[in-house]
Amino acid sequence: MIICEPTFSEIADNRLFQKVERCGRVCYKSEDKITDDSAYKFVKNICSNNHGSVLEHYNFTFSLEIPFYHILKEVDIPFFFLSYDNLPLVSFNLRAFLNQYNREDFPSELKTFAYFMEVTYPTLFTLNKGEKEFNIELIEDYSKLTRKERDIHQYITISLITDRGVTHELVRHRIASYSQESTRYCNYSKDKFSNQITVIKPVDLPEDGLEIWKQAMENAEKSYFELLKVSSPQIARSVLPNSLKTEICVTASINEWKLIFELRCSSFAHPDIRYIMNKVKSYFIEKGYIDETI
Ligand SMILES: Cc1cc2nc3c(=O)[nH]c(=O)nc-3n(C[C@H](O)[C@H](O)[C@H](O)COP(=O)(O)OP(=O)(O)OC[C@H]3O[C@@H](n4cnc5c(N)ncnc54)[C@H](O)[C@@H]3O)c2cc1C
Repeated sequence: MIICEPTFSEIADNRLFQKVERCGRVCYKSEDKITDDSAYKFVKNICSNNHGSVLEHYNFTFSLEIPFYHILKEVDIPFFFLSYDNLPLVSFNLRAFLNQYNREDFPSELKTFAYFMEVTYPTLFTLNKGEKEFNIELIEDYSKLTRKERDIHQYITISLITDRGVTHELVRHRIASYSQESTRYCNYSKDKFSNQITVIKPVDLPEDGLEIWKQAMENAEKSYFELLKVSSPQIARSVLPNSLKTEICVTASINEWKLIFELRCSSFAHPDIRYIMNKVKSYFIEKGYIDETI
């Protein structure tokens, strides 16, 4: 049994295929299969095997011509977010767009975006539904937007190493996208997991509780390995503890992250989620994603 520390990092890759692959492979812990040309195939597979939530980790923001903004406001497409503070803007993720693009009754209002996608990603968008009706500009540098615009349209992806108790709380924040290491697909008896489970020690565990906790973890590991002999990881996982280490990729707008910080950095939050969220919040302040006063 390994005991590790909770930690996090930002996944700032802005290449579509590579970012989706990086987040998606967390589910299977198959990052070792990433090669120079594995990303496109991985994304194609995701598109065809009903695991579309992984596609939510890649977000597009466009500035629009004013008439186009008003047309989009009228049609109200699911998971398309519009604002007009300084610039008329829209953002949506890859899944939201593909959901529309693959419809038989593709909304004609979106053919300008279809044109952009077909030109930029010709191997993924092949249905020739596009037409350059309006001028749009992809926003790549969010620092040019106002604070209000960034809060709505800039999406940040954080990979967290934490325990399964924390992630159970985290995924209650519904206006976000998640990909998490799967205890169905991961078999911790294999070499790539060093043939053992990894756990995270609760931050507020009192000194005289340490041995009790360690014993419980070791018992759980023993039972898990015994169950693996007669079943599969998805059955054996039933005895794994809340302290089991897990990785989760979380993609959310800055506005949603602010709400997460408000609820999970407060003194009412569980100490383990508060510990890691305070660290993520400090990082957001350091990067200028949020102000110190929040
Ligand atoms: C200290 C603490 C204790 C908690 N204890 C428990 C507990 O004992 N049991 C338990 O089950 N949960 C508990 N939770 C989880 C809590 O109930 C929320 O599920 C979680 O905090 C996510 O908050 P949210 O719904 O505001 O955020 P999100 O899901 O991120 O939603 C963001 C906002 O969108 C709006 N929204 C989203 N979906 C809907 C909808 N379907 N209808 C209307 N508005 C919507 C709301 O305005 C919401 O605030 C606890 C949370 C905290 C912080």
